[in-house]
Amino acid sequence: MLKGVPVSPGTGIGRAFIYRDVSLDYSYRIFSGKEKELERLHEAIKAFKTEWQKRAANLETKMGRKESAIVLGQLILLDDPFLNQEMKKAIDLGQVAEAAVSAATGHVAQMYLSMSDEMMQARAQDMYCIREELIKLLLYGKTISLSELPPGTVFVTEELTHFICANFPVGNIEAILTVTGGKTSHSAILARALGIPAIMGIEDLLLNVTDDALVLVDGTSGEFYVNPDEDILEEGRQKKNEWRENQEALLVYMTRPSMDKDGKSYLVQCNISSLGEAYLAKKYGSDGVGLFRTEMLFMDRQIPPSEEEQLNTYLKVADIMGEKGLVIRTMDIGGDKKVPYLNRQQEPNPFLGFRGIRQSLADPALFGMQIRAVLRAGVQGKNIKIMLPLVTGVDELLEAKSFIEKEKESLEEKGIPFNPHLPVGIMVETPAAVQLASVLAKEADFFSIGTNDLTQYILAADRLNPRMDYLYSHFHPAVLKSIEMVILAAKSQGIPVGICGEAAASPGFIPIYISFGLDEWSVNPAEVPFVRRELSLWDIKDANEVTKKALEFSTTSELSSFLQKEVRSKAFLRSASSLSPR
Ligand code: PEP
Ligand code: MG
Repeated sequence: MLKGVPVSPGTGIGRAFIYRDVSLDYSYRIFSGKEKELERLHEAIKAFKTEWQKRAANLETKMGRKESAIVLGQLILLDDPFLNQEMKKAIDLGQVAEAAVSAATGHVAQMYLSMSDEMMQARAQDMYCIREELIKLLLYGKTISLSELPPGTVFVTEELTHFICANFPVGNIEAILTVTGGKTSHSAILARALGIPAIMGIEDLLLNVTDDALVLVDGTSGEFYVNPDEDILEEGRQKKNEWRENQEALLVYMTRPSMDKDGKSYLVQCNISSLGEAYLAKKYGSDGVGLFRTEMLFMDRQIPPSEEEQLNTYLKVADIMGEKGLVIRTMDIGGDKKVPYLNRQQEPNPFLGFRGIRQSLADPALFGMQIRAVLRAGVQGKNIKIMLPLVTGVDELLEAKSFIEKEKESLEEKGIPFNPHLPVGIMVETPAAVQLASVLAKEADFFSIGTNDLTQYILAADRLNPRMDYLYSHFHPAVLKSIEMVILAAKSQGIPVGICGEAAASPGFIPIYISFGLDEWSVNPAEVPFVRRELSLWDIKDANEVTKKALEFSTTSELSSFLQKEVRSKAFLRSASSLSPR
Protein backbone atom coordinates (compact mmCIF):
# COMPACT_ATOMS: atom_id res chain seq x y z
CA MET A 1 0.00 0.00 0.00
CA LEU A 2 1.29 3.46 -0.92
CA LYS A 3 0.05 6.81 0.29
CA GLY A 4 -0.27 10.43 -0.76
CA VAL A 5 -2.49 13.41 -0.07
CA PRO A 6 -6.17 12.55 -0.68
CA VAL A 7 -7.53 15.39 -2.80
CA SER A 8 -10.58 14.08 -4.62
CA PRO A 9 -12.77 11.39 -3.04
CA GLY A 10 -13.93 8.11 -4.52
CA THR A 11 -12.42 4.84 -5.67
CA GLY A 12 -11.00 4.06 -9.10
CA ILE A 13 -9.48 0.88 -10.50
CA GLY A 14 -7.67 0.66 -13.82
CA ARG A 15 -4.50 0.40 -15.87
CA ALA A 16 -1.82 3.05 -15.39
CA PHE A 17 -0.98 5.44 -18.17
CA ILE A 18 2.12 7.49 -17.39
CA TYR A 19 2.06 10.88 -19.03
CA ARG A 20 5.44 12.53 -19.44
CA ASP A 21 5.59 16.08 -20.68
CA VAL A 22 8.25 15.95 -23.39
CA SER A 23 11.14 18.36 -23.83
CA LEU A 24 11.31 20.49 -26.97
CA ASP A 25 15.07 20.84 -26.75
CA TYR A 26 16.58 19.97 -30.14
CA SER A 27 20.03 21.47 -29.58
CA TYR A 28 21.61 18.00 -29.78
CA ARG A 29 20.37 17.36 -33.34
CA ILE A 30 22.95 17.36 -36.12
CA PHE A 31 22.18 18.50 -39.68
CA SER A 32 21.74 15.39 -41.82
CA GLY A 33 21.81 17.04 -45.25
CA LYS A 34 19.23 19.14 -47.09
CA GLU A 35 17.31 16.24 -48.56
CA LYS A 36 17.08 14.26 -45.38
CA GLU A 37 15.98 17.28 -43.33
CA LEU A 38 13.36 18.20 -45.93
CA GLU A 39 12.08 14.66 -45.89
CA ARG A 40 11.83 14.73 -42.07
CA LEU A 41 9.93 18.00 -42.30
CA HIS A 42 7.48 16.64 -44.87
CA GLU A 43 6.86 13.52 -42.80
CA ALA A 44 6.14 15.66 -39.73
CA ILE A 45 3.75 17.91 -41.68
CA LYS A 46 1.94 14.86 -43.04
CA ALA A 47 1.59 13.36 -39.57
CA PHE A 48 0.39 16.72 -38.22
CA LYS A 49 -2.34 16.89 -40.84
CA THR A 50 -3.55 13.33 -40.22
CA GLU A 51 -3.62 13.90 -36.46
CA TRP A 52 -5.37 17.29 -36.75
CA GLN A 53 -8.04 15.95 -39.09
CA LYS A 54 -8.76 13.21 -36.54
CA ARG A 55 -8.93 15.78 -33.74
CA ALA A 56 -11.26 18.03 -35.70
CA ALA A 57 -13.62 15.13 -36.43
CA ASN A 58 -13.54 14.15 -32.75
CA LEU A 59 -14.27 17.69 -31.60
CA GLU A 60 -17.06 18.11 -34.08
CA THR A 61 -18.92 15.11 -32.69
CA LYS A 62 -18.28 16.12 -29.08
CA MET A 63 -18.62 19.92 -29.11
CA GLY A 64 -19.88 20.96 -32.50
CA ARG A 65 -18.64 22.61 -35.65
CA LYS A 66 -17.50 25.88 -34.07
CA GLU A 67 -14.93 24.17 -31.83
CA SER A 68 -13.60 21.94 -34.59
CA ALA A 69 -13.17 24.99 -36.82
CA ILE A 70 -10.31 26.17 -34.58
CA VAL A 71 -8.39 22.96 -35.24
CA LEU A 72 -9.17 23.07 -38.94
CA GLY A 73 -8.00 26.70 -39.00
CA GLN A 74 -4.55 25.55 -37.89
CA LEU A 75 -4.46 23.10 -40.79
CA ILE A 76 -5.09 25.96 -43.19
CA LEU A 77 -2.34 28.04 -41.59
CA LEU A 78 0.10 25.19 -42.06
CA ASP A 79 -0.53 25.30 -45.80
CA ASP A 80 0.55 28.94 -45.99
CA PRO A 81 3.08 29.06 -48.92
CA PHE A 82 5.15 31.74 -47.19
CA LEU A 83 5.54 29.60 -44.06
CA ASN A 84 6.58 26.59 -46.13
CA GLN A 85 8.98 28.64 -48.18
CA GLU A 86 10.58 30.01 -45.00
CA MET A 87 11.02 26.52 -43.58
CA LYS A 88 12.63 25.31 -46.78
CA LYS A 89 14.87 28.37 -46.92
CA ALA A 90 16.18 27.68 -43.42
CA ILE A 91 16.95 24.06 -44.30
CA ASP A 92 18.73 25.21 -47.48
CA LEU A 93 20.89 27.35 -45.22
CA GLY A 94 21.93 24.26 -43.26
CA GLN A 95 19.50 24.27 -40.35
CA VAL A 96 17.97 21.09 -38.90
CA ALA A 97 14.22 20.73 -39.54
CA GLU A 98 13.35 21.60 -35.91
CA ALA A 99 15.27 24.89 -36.14
CA ALA A 100 13.67 25.63 -39.52
CA VAL A 101 10.19 25.13 -38.02
CA SER A 102 11.05 27.26 -35.03
CA ALA A 103 12.45 30.14 -37.09
CA ALA A 104 9.74 30.15 -39.76
CA THR A 105 6.75 29.87 -37.38
CA GLY A 106 8.33 32.54 -35.17
CA HIS A 107 8.74 34.82 -38.18
CA VAL A 108 5.13 34.33 -39.32
CA ALA A 109 3.81 34.74 -35.74
CA GLN A 110 5.62 38.07 -35.46
CA MET A 111 4.01 39.19 -38.72
CA TYR A 112 0.56 38.36 -37.36
CA LEU A 113 1.33 40.16 -34.12
CA SER A 114 2.28 43.34 -35.98
CA MET A 115 -1.13 43.54 -37.68
CA SER A 116 -3.76 45.86 -36.26
CA ASP A 117 -6.67 43.43 -36.65
CA GLU A 118 -7.13 41.47 -33.42
CA MET A 119 -8.37 38.40 -35.28
CA MET A 120 -5.12 38.31 -37.23
CA GLN A 121 -3.08 38.86 -34.07
CA ALA A 122 -4.74 35.84 -32.51
CA ARG A 123 -3.32 33.67 -35.29
CA ALA A 124 0.12 34.14 -33.77
CA GLN A 125 -0.98 31.84 -30.96
CA ASP A 126 -2.01 29.21 -33.53
CA MET A 127 1.43 29.52 -35.12
CA TYR A 128 3.11 28.86 -31.77
CA CYS A 129 0.87 25.87 -31.32
CA ILE A 130 1.86 24.53 -34.75
CA ARG A 131 5.51 25.07 -33.87
CA GLU A 132 5.26 23.03 -30.69
CA GLU A 133 3.43 20.12 -32.31
CA LEU A 134 5.71 19.97 -35.36
CA ILE A 135 8.83 19.96 -33.19
CA LYS A 136 7.34 17.18 -31.05
CA LEU A 137 6.62 15.18 -34.17
CA LEU A 138 10.15 15.72 -35.47
CA LEU A 139 11.75 14.71 -32.19
CA TYR A 140 9.49 11.85 -31.12
CA GLY A 141 7.68 10.78 -34.27
CA LYS A 142 4.26 11.19 -32.66
CA THR A 143 2.26 13.58 -30.54
CA ILE A 144 0.66 12.13 -27.46
CA SER A 145 -3.01 12.05 -28.15
CA LEU A 146 -4.60 12.26 -24.74
CA SER A 147 -8.06 12.18 -26.24
CA GLU A 148 -7.65 8.54 -27.19
CA LEU A 149 -6.95 7.12 -23.73
CA PRO A 150 -9.13 4.04 -23.27
CA PRO A 151 -11.82 3.49 -20.61
CA GLY A 152 -10.40 2.34 -17.28
CA THR A 153 -7.28 4.54 -17.35
CA VAL A 154 -5.51 5.56 -14.16
CA PHE A 155 -3.73 8.73 -15.17
CA VAL A 156 -0.25 9.07 -13.66
CA THR A 157 1.79 12.23 -14.09
CA GLU A 158 4.20 14.65 -12.49
CA GLU A 159 1.66 17.49 -12.44
CA LEU A 160 -1.95 17.67 -13.57
CA THR A 161 -2.29 20.71 -15.79
CA HIS A 162 -5.19 22.47 -17.35
CA PHE A 163 -3.94 21.43 -20.74
CA ILE A 164 -4.18 17.77 -19.75
CA CYS A 165 -7.69 18.11 -18.32
CA ALA A 166 -8.89 19.92 -21.41
CA ASN A 167 -7.65 17.09 -23.59
CA PHE A 168 -8.17 13.80 -21.83
CA PRO A 169 -11.47 11.94 -22.12
CA VAL A 170 -12.88 12.56 -18.64
CA GLY A 171 -15.29 9.61 -18.74
CA ASN A 172 -12.44 7.18 -19.41
CA ILE A 173 -10.31 8.31 -16.47
CA GLU A 174 -10.80 6.14 -13.38
CA ALA A 175 -8.42 8.02 -11.12
CA ILE A 176 -5.48 10.42 -11.06
CA LEU A 177 -2.12 10.11 -9.29
CA THR A 178 0.41 12.93 -9.30
CA VAL A 179 3.79 13.78 -7.81
CA THR A 180 3.01 17.42 -7.07
CA GLY A 181 -0.02 19.13 -5.59
CA GLY A 182 -1.74 19.56 -2.25
CA LYS A 183 -5.38 19.68 -1.19
CA THR A 184 -6.07 23.14 -2.55
CA SER A 185 -3.60 23.24 -5.44
CA HIS A 186 -5.32 24.11 -8.68
CA SER A 187 -4.62 20.61 -9.98
CA ALA A 188 -6.53 19.12 -7.04
CA ILE A 189 -9.36 21.56 -7.66
CA LEU A 190 -9.47 20.43 -11.30
CA ALA A 191 -9.71 16.76 -10.30
CA ARG A 192 -12.57 17.54 -7.93
CA ALA A 193 -14.30 19.69 -10.53
CA LEU A 194 -14.32 16.68 -12.83
CA GLY A 195 -15.38 14.32 -10.03
CA ILE A 196 -12.39 12.00 -10.59
CA PRO A 197 -10.82 10.29 -7.54
CA ALA A 198 -7.29 11.62 -7.07
CA ILE A 199 -4.24 11.40 -4.84
CA MET A 200 -1.45 13.97 -5.10
CA GLY A 201 1.86 14.84 -3.49
CA ILE A 202 3.27 11.30 -4.01
CA GLU A 203 7.01 11.96 -4.05
CA ASP A 204 8.19 8.59 -5.37
CA LEU A 205 5.18 7.92 -7.61
CA LEU A 206 7.10 7.39 -10.82
CA LEU A 207 9.39 4.89 -9.14
CA ASN A 208 6.47 2.79 -8.00
CA VAL A 209 4.06 2.77 -10.93
CA THR A 210 4.84 1.44 -14.40
CA ASP A 211 2.81 1.82 -17.58
CA ASP A 212 -0.09 -0.60 -17.74
CA ALA A 213 0.17 -1.72 -14.09
CA LEU A 214 -3.17 -2.43 -12.42
CA VAL A 215 -3.80 0.31 -9.88
CA LEU A 216 -6.43 0.67 -7.17
CA VAL A 217 -6.86 4.27 -6.00
CA ASP A 218 -8.77 5.34 -2.91
CA GLY A 219 -9.04 9.11 -3.23
CA THR A 220 -10.90 9.36 0.07
CA SER A 221 -8.12 7.89 2.23
CA GLY A 222 -5.15 8.75 0.00
CA GLU A 223 -4.12 5.08 -0.25
CA PHE A 224 -3.34 3.28 -3.47
CA TYR A 225 -2.14 -0.17 -4.50
CA VAL A 226 -0.08 -1.20 -7.52
CA ASN A 227 -0.95 -4.71 -8.79
CA PRO A 228 -2.99 -5.53 -5.65
CA ASP A 229 -3.96 -9.11 -4.75
CA GLU A 230 -7.47 -10.40 -5.40
CA ASP A 231 -8.77 -9.74 -1.83
CA ILE A 232 -7.75 -6.11 -1.86
CA LEU A 233 -9.09 -5.71 -5.37
CA GLU A 234 -12.45 -7.17 -4.38
CA GLU A 235 -12.67 -4.80 -1.42
CA GLY A 236 -11.82 -1.94 -3.78
CA ARG A 237 -14.57 -2.96 -6.22
CA GLN A 238 -17.11 -2.91 -3.40
CA LYS A 239 -15.98 0.54 -2.26
CA LYS A 240 -16.17 1.77 -5.82
CA ASN A 241 -19.74 0.52 -6.18
CA GLU A 242 -20.78 2.09 -2.87
CA TRP A 243 -19.18 5.36 -3.93
CA ARG A 244 -21.01 5.34 -7.25
CA GLU A 245 -24.33 4.57 -5.55
CA ASN A 246 -23.81 7.42 -3.10
CA GLN A 247 -22.96 9.80 -5.89
CA GLU A 248 -26.04 8.77 -7.81
CA ALA A 249 -28.21 9.23 -4.72
CA LEU A 250 -26.94 12.81 -4.52
CA LEU A 251 -27.97 13.64 -8.06
CA VAL A 252 -31.55 14.45 -7.04
CA TYR A 253 -30.13 17.61 -5.47
CA MET A 254 -29.07 18.89 -8.88
CA THR A 255 -32.61 20.11 -9.40
CA ARG A 256 -33.56 20.95 -5.80
CA PRO A 257 -33.49 24.50 -4.49
CA SER A 258 -30.56 25.58 -2.29
CA MET A 259 -32.30 25.76 1.09
CA ASP A 260 -31.65 24.93 4.71
CA LYS A 261 -34.09 22.93 6.83
CA ASP A 262 -35.93 26.13 7.81
CA GLY A 263 -36.56 26.89 4.14
CA LYS A 264 -34.12 29.81 3.99
CA SER A 265 -32.67 30.20 0.49
CA TYR A 266 -29.02 30.50 -0.49
CA LEU A 267 -27.01 30.40 -3.68
CA VAL A 268 -24.90 27.34 -4.37
CA GLN A 269 -22.74 28.39 -7.26
CA CYS A 270 -19.68 26.97 -8.98
CA ASN A 271 -15.99 27.64 -9.31
CA ILE A 272 -14.89 27.23 -12.89
CA SER A 273 -11.78 27.95 -14.91
CA SER A 274 -12.83 27.08 -18.45
CA LEU A 275 -15.76 26.86 -20.78
CA GLY A 276 -15.88 23.09 -20.29
CA GLU A 277 -16.39 23.59 -16.57
CA ALA A 278 -19.15 26.11 -17.25
CA TYR A 279 -21.03 23.29 -18.99
CA LEU A 280 -20.37 21.09 -15.97
CA ALA A 281 -21.71 23.83 -13.67
CA LYS A 282 -24.90 23.88 -15.68
CA LYS A 283 -25.11 20.08 -15.73
CA TYR A 284 -24.93 19.92 -11.94
CA GLY A 285 -27.68 22.53 -11.64
CA SER A 286 -25.62 25.27 -10.00
CA ASP A 287 -27.11 28.66 -9.14
CA GLY A 288 -24.49 30.42 -11.26
CA VAL A 289 -20.73 30.87 -11.31
CA GLY A 290 -19.36 32.32 -8.08
CA LEU A 291 -15.75 32.27 -9.24
CA PHE A 292 -14.44 32.19 -12.78
CA ARG A 293 -10.67 31.75 -12.45
CA THR A 294 -9.74 33.61 -15.61
CA GLU A 295 -6.00 33.10 -15.32
CA MET A 296 -6.38 29.76 -17.08
CA LEU A 297 -7.23 31.70 -20.25
CA PHE A 298 -3.78 33.26 -20.08
CA MET A 299 -1.79 30.06 -19.64
CA ASP A 300 -0.32 27.47 -22.00
CA ARG A 301 0.15 30.05 -24.72
CA GLN A 302 2.79 32.38 -26.11
CA ILE A 303 0.74 35.59 -26.32
CA PRO A 304 -2.08 36.84 -24.10
CA PRO A 305 -5.67 36.36 -25.24
CA SER A 306 -6.89 39.52 -26.95
CA GLU A 307 -9.77 41.66 -25.66
CA GLU A 308 -12.06 40.10 -28.32
CA GLU A 309 -11.02 36.56 -27.46
CA GLN A 310 -11.68 37.21 -23.78
CA LEU A 311 -14.98 38.90 -24.56
CA ASN A 312 -16.06 35.84 -26.55
CA THR A 313 -15.22 33.48 -23.71
CA TYR A 314 -16.97 35.60 -21.08
CA LEU A 315 -20.03 35.88 -23.31
CA LYS A 316 -20.12 32.14 -23.90
CA VAL A 317 -19.99 31.45 -20.16
CA ALA A 318 -22.60 34.15 -19.50
CA ASP A 319 -24.77 32.58 -22.14
CA ILE A 320 -24.50 29.16 -20.50
CA MET A 321 -25.46 30.71 -17.16
CA GLY A 322 -28.37 32.75 -18.54
CA GLU A 323 -30.06 34.77 -15.78
CA LYS A 324 -27.85 33.21 -13.13
CA GLY A 325 -24.84 35.13 -11.87
CA LEU A 326 -21.31 35.08 -13.25
CA VAL A 327 -18.48 36.41 -11.09
CA ILE A 328 -15.40 37.00 -13.21
CA ARG A 329 -12.25 37.10 -11.14
CA THR A 330 -9.52 39.13 -12.76
CA MET A 331 -6.38 37.12 -13.42
CA ASP A 332 -4.44 35.78 -10.49
CA ILE A 333 -1.37 34.31 -12.08
CA GLY A 334 0.83 33.14 -9.25
CA GLY A 335 4.59 33.15 -9.64
CA ASP A 336 4.37 29.35 -9.54
CA LYS A 337 2.80 29.38 -13.03
CA LYS A 338 4.81 29.72 -16.21
CA VAL A 339 3.48 32.36 -18.59
CA PRO A 340 6.20 33.11 -21.16
CA TYR A 341 4.91 36.47 -22.39
CA LEU A 342 4.83 37.97 -18.90
CA ASN A 343 8.64 37.89 -18.72
CA ARG A 344 8.62 37.46 -15.02
CA GLN A 345 11.57 37.03 -12.76
CA GLN A 346 11.86 33.89 -10.69
CA GLU A 347 10.72 34.73 -7.20
CA PRO A 348 12.06 33.13 -4.05
CA ASN A 349 8.54 32.97 -2.53
CA PRO A 350 6.04 33.12 -5.40
CA PHE A 351 3.01 32.89 -3.11
CA LEU A 352 4.22 35.98 -1.28
CA GLY A 353 5.10 37.71 -4.48
CA PHE A 354 3.90 39.31 -7.64
CA ARG A 355 0.41 37.94 -8.23
CA GLY A 356 -3.27 38.83 -8.25
CA ILE A 357 -4.20 42.49 -8.05
CA ARG A 358 -0.52 43.43 -7.56
CA GLN A 359 0.42 42.14 -10.95
CA SER A 360 -2.69 43.53 -12.66
CA LEU A 361 -2.13 47.06 -11.34
CA ALA A 362 1.49 46.92 -12.47
CA ASP A 363 0.53 45.85 -16.02
CA PRO A 364 -2.12 48.33 -17.19
CA ALA A 365 -2.06 47.06 -20.78
CA LEU A 366 -2.92 43.50 -19.80
CA PHE A 367 -5.32 44.49 -17.01
CA GLY A 368 -7.02 47.03 -19.27
CA MET A 369 -7.67 44.39 -21.91
CA GLN A 370 -9.34 42.17 -19.36
CA ILE A 371 -11.40 44.89 -17.70
CA ARG A 372 -12.66 46.17 -21.06
CA ALA A 373 -13.62 42.65 -22.11
CA VAL A 374 -15.60 42.14 -18.88
CA LEU A 375 -17.30 45.55 -19.09
CA ARG A 376 -18.28 44.83 -22.67
CA ALA A 377 -19.52 41.33 -21.80
CA GLY A 378 -21.78 43.01 -19.23
CA VAL A 379 -23.96 44.42 -22.02
CA GLN A 380 -25.24 41.00 -23.07
CA GLY A 381 -24.34 38.99 -19.98
CA LYS A 382 -27.30 39.26 -17.65
CA ASN A 383 -25.65 39.24 -14.27
CA ILE A 384 -21.88 39.72 -14.43
CA LYS A 385 -19.71 40.91 -11.54
CA ILE A 386 -16.01 41.74 -11.30
CA MET A 387 -13.94 40.24 -8.49
CA LEU A 388 -10.42 41.29 -7.51
CA PRO A 389 -7.98 38.74 -6.06
CA LEU A 390 -5.44 39.04 -3.26
CA VAL A 391 -6.50 42.43 -2.00
CA THR A 392 -4.57 43.48 1.10
CA GLY A 393 -5.94 46.96 1.66
CA VAL A 394 -8.33 49.74 0.75
CA ASP A 395 -5.70 51.53 -1.34
CA GLU A 396 -5.44 48.59 -3.75
CA LEU A 397 -9.20 48.34 -4.03
CA LEU A 398 -9.59 52.07 -4.69
CA GLU A 399 -6.78 52.04 -7.25
CA ALA A 400 -8.40 49.12 -9.07
CA LYS A 401 -11.79 50.84 -8.97
CA SER A 402 -10.40 54.02 -10.44
CA PHE A 403 -8.61 51.96 -13.10
CA ILE A 404 -11.97 50.40 -13.99
CA GLU A 405 -13.53 53.87 -14.20
CA LYS A 406 -10.80 54.99 -16.61
CA GLU A 407 -11.40 51.98 -18.81
CA LYS A 408 -15.09 52.90 -18.89
CA GLU A 409 -14.15 56.38 -20.04
CA SER A 410 -11.96 55.00 -22.80
CA LEU A 411 -14.75 52.70 -24.03
CA GLU A 412 -17.17 55.61 -23.88
CA GLU A 413 -14.84 57.78 -25.96
CA LYS A 414 -14.54 55.06 -28.58
CA GLY A 415 -18.29 54.58 -28.63
CA ILE A 416 -17.98 50.90 -27.67
CA PRO A 417 -21.01 49.65 -25.71
CA PHE A 418 -20.35 48.47 -22.14
CA ASN A 419 -22.19 48.04 -18.88
CA PRO A 420 -21.16 50.80 -16.45
CA HIS A 421 -22.96 49.22 -13.49
CA LEU A 422 -21.06 45.98 -12.93
CA PRO A 423 -20.55 45.42 -9.20
CA VAL A 424 -16.91 45.22 -8.07
CA GLY A 425 -16.17 42.85 -5.20
CA ILE A 426 -13.09 41.35 -3.64
CA MET A 427 -11.74 38.00 -2.59
CA VAL A 428 -10.98 38.07 1.10
CA GLU A 429 -7.98 35.80 1.21
CA THR A 430 -5.26 37.62 3.09
CA PRO A 431 -5.07 38.14 6.86
CA ALA A 432 -4.79 41.89 6.16
CA ALA A 433 -8.14 41.88 4.35
CA VAL A 434 -9.70 40.00 7.27
CA GLN A 435 -8.47 42.58 9.75
CA LEU A 436 -9.69 45.40 7.55
CA ALA A 437 -12.90 43.68 6.50
CA SER A 438 -15.19 46.29 8.00
CA VAL A 439 -13.33 49.08 6.15
CA LEU A 440 -13.15 47.14 2.89
CA ALA A 441 -16.86 46.36 3.11
CA LYS A 442 -17.55 50.09 2.72
CA GLU A 443 -15.84 50.12 -0.67
CA ALA A 444 -16.50 46.63 -2.05
CA ASP A 445 -19.85 45.61 -3.52
CA PHE A 446 -19.45 42.07 -2.23
CA PHE A 447 -17.02 39.71 -0.51
CA SER A 448 -16.03 36.19 -1.38
CA ILE A 449 -13.87 34.39 1.17
CA GLY A 450 -10.97 32.53 -0.43
CA THR A 451 -10.10 29.99 2.24
CA ASN A 452 -7.44 28.30 0.08
CA ASP A 453 -5.10 31.25 0.27
CA LEU A 454 -6.44 32.54 3.56
CA THR A 455 -5.52 29.27 5.27
CA GLN A 456 -2.00 29.28 3.84
CA TYR A 457 -1.37 32.88 4.81
CA ILE A 458 -2.86 32.61 8.31
CA LEU A 459 -0.86 29.47 9.06
CA ALA A 460 2.24 30.37 7.01
CA ALA A 461 1.87 26.90 5.44
CA ASP A 462 2.35 26.62 1.67
CA ARG A 463 -0.81 25.16 0.11
CA LEU A 464 1.21 23.36 -2.58
CA ASN A 465 3.71 21.72 -0.27
CA PRO A 466 2.68 18.14 0.62
CA ARG A 467 4.93 18.32 3.70
CA MET A 468 2.74 21.09 5.05
CA ASP A 469 -0.39 18.99 4.63
CA TYR A 470 -0.45 18.15 8.35
CA LEU A 471 -0.59 21.85 9.26
CA TYR A 472 -2.52 23.33 6.36
CA SER A 473 -6.14 23.00 7.51
CA HIS A 474 -9.21 25.19 7.49
CA PHE A 475 -10.14 23.51 10.78
CA HIS A 476 -7.53 25.66 12.50
CA PRO A 477 -9.47 27.86 14.94
CA ALA A 478 -7.71 30.96 13.59
CA VAL A 479 -9.26 30.30 10.16
CA LEU A 480 -12.69 29.80 11.69
CA LYS A 481 -12.44 33.07 13.63
CA SER A 482 -11.33 34.90 10.50
CA ILE A 483 -14.32 33.60 8.56
CA GLU A 484 -16.59 34.82 11.36
CA MET A 485 -15.00 38.28 11.31
CA VAL A 486 -15.41 38.65 7.57
CA ILE A 487 -19.03 37.54 7.46
CA LEU A 488 -19.95 39.82 10.37
CA ALA A 489 -18.21 42.77 8.71
CA ALA A 490 -20.06 42.18 5.45
CA LYS A 491 -23.38 41.82 7.28
CA SER A 492 -22.86 45.03 9.21
CA GLN A 493 -22.30 46.92 5.94
CA GLY A 494 -25.14 45.10 4.20
CA ILE A 495 -23.08 43.62 1.37
CA PRO A 496 -23.48 40.01 0.19
CA VAL A 497 -20.81 37.57 1.31
CA GLY A 498 -19.91 34.21 -0.14
CA ILE A 499 -17.21 31.62 0.21
CA CYS A 500 -15.33 30.19 -2.75
CA GLY A 501 -12.34 28.40 -1.22
CA GLU A 502 -12.40 24.62 -1.04
CA ALA A 503 -13.60 24.84 2.58
CA ALA A 504 -16.97 25.92 1.17
CA ALA A 505 -17.88 22.27 0.63
CA SER A 506 -16.49 21.07 3.95
CA PRO A 507 -19.51 19.37 5.55
CA GLY A 508 -18.52 20.27 9.11
CA PHE A 509 -18.47 23.95 8.25
CA ILE A 510 -21.91 24.06 6.65
CA PRO A 511 -23.82 24.68 9.94
CA ILE A 512 -21.21 27.29 10.86
CA TYR A 513 -21.71 29.20 7.62
CA ILE A 514 -25.48 29.07 8.14
CA SER A 515 -25.12 30.39 11.67
CA PHE A 516 -22.78 33.23 10.63
CA GLY A 517 -25.27 34.26 7.92
CA LEU A 518 -23.34 33.40 4.75
CA ASP A 519 -25.31 34.15 1.57
CA GLU A 520 -23.47 32.25 -1.15
CA TRP A 521 -21.41 29.12 -1.65
CA SER A 522 -19.19 28.60 -4.64
CA VAL A 523 -17.89 25.05 -5.06
CA ASN A 524 -16.61 22.68 -7.72
CA PRO A 525 -19.38 21.63 -10.12
CA ALA A 526 -19.59 18.02 -8.93
CA GLU A 527 -19.99 19.25 -5.33
CA VAL A 528 -23.17 21.29 -5.91
CA PRO A 529 -25.59 18.42 -5.09
CA PHE A 530 -23.50 17.48 -2.05
CA VAL A 531 -23.57 20.99 -0.57
CA ARG A 532 -27.28 21.32 -1.25
CA ARG A 533 -27.99 18.11 0.57
CA GLU A 534 -25.84 19.15 3.55
CA LEU A 535 -27.57 22.53 3.69
CA SER A 536 -30.96 20.85 3.74
CA LEU A 537 -30.04 18.95 6.92
CA TRP A 538 -29.53 21.98 9.16
CA ASP A 539 -31.90 24.46 10.79
CA ILE A 540 -30.67 27.64 12.41
CA LYS A 541 -31.20 26.37 15.95
CA ASP A 542 -28.92 23.33 15.49
CA ALA A 543 -26.48 25.37 13.43
CA ASN A 544 -26.18 28.00 16.16
CA GLU A 545 -25.57 25.36 18.82
CA VAL A 546 -22.81 23.69 16.82
CA THR A 547 -21.21 27.04 16.02
CA LYS A 548 -21.22 28.23 19.62
CA LYS A 549 -19.35 25.09 20.70
CA ALA A 550 -17.03 25.15 17.65
CA LEU A 551 -15.82 28.62 18.56
CA GLU A 552 -14.62 27.36 21.94
CA PHE A 553 -11.94 25.00 20.60
CA SER A 554 -8.35 26.06 20.47
CA THR A 555 -6.71 23.38 18.30
CA THR A 556 -7.24 22.04 14.78
CA SER A 557 -7.68 18.45 15.92
CA GLU A 558 -10.29 19.30 18.57
CA LEU A 559 -12.32 21.42 16.16
CA SER A 560 -12.04 18.91 13.34
CA SER A 561 -13.09 15.91 15.44
CA PHE A 562 -15.95 17.85 17.00
CA LEU A 563 -17.30 18.90 13.60
CA GLN A 564 -16.87 15.43 12.17
CA LYS A 565 -18.92 14.06 15.07
CA GLU A 566 -21.63 16.64 14.41
CA VAL A 567 -21.71 15.74 10.73
CA ARG A 568 -21.97 12.07 11.61
CA SER A 569 -24.91 12.85 13.86
CA LYS A 570 -26.89 13.53 10.70
CA ALA A 571 -25.58 10.42 9.02
CA PHE A 572 -28.81 8.46 9.04
CA LEU A 573 -29.64 10.25 5.81
CA ARG A 574 -26.47 9.43 4.02
CA SER A 575 -23.66 6.93 4.06
CA ALA A 576 -20.30 8.06 5.46
CA SER A 577 -18.49 7.21 2.25
CA SER A 578 -20.28 9.95 0.34
CA LEU A 579 -18.73 12.59 2.54
CA SER A 580 -16.03 14.76 1.20
CA PRO A 581 -12.65 13.97 2.83
CA ARG A 582 -12.27 17.63 3.55
C1 PEP B 1 -8.86 30.82 -2.67
O1 PEP B 1 -7.74 31.29 -2.49
O2 PEP B 1 -9.54 30.32 -1.75
C2 PEP B 1 -9.46 30.80 -4.01
C3 PEP B 1 -10.70 30.39 -4.20
O3 PEP B 1 -8.70 31.19 -5.06
P1 PEP B 1 -7.53 30.32 -5.70
O4 PEP B 1 -7.70 28.90 -5.25
O5 PEP B 1 -7.67 30.46 -7.15
O6 PEP B 1 -6.29 30.95 -5.17
MG1 MG C 1 -6.81 32.58 -3.92
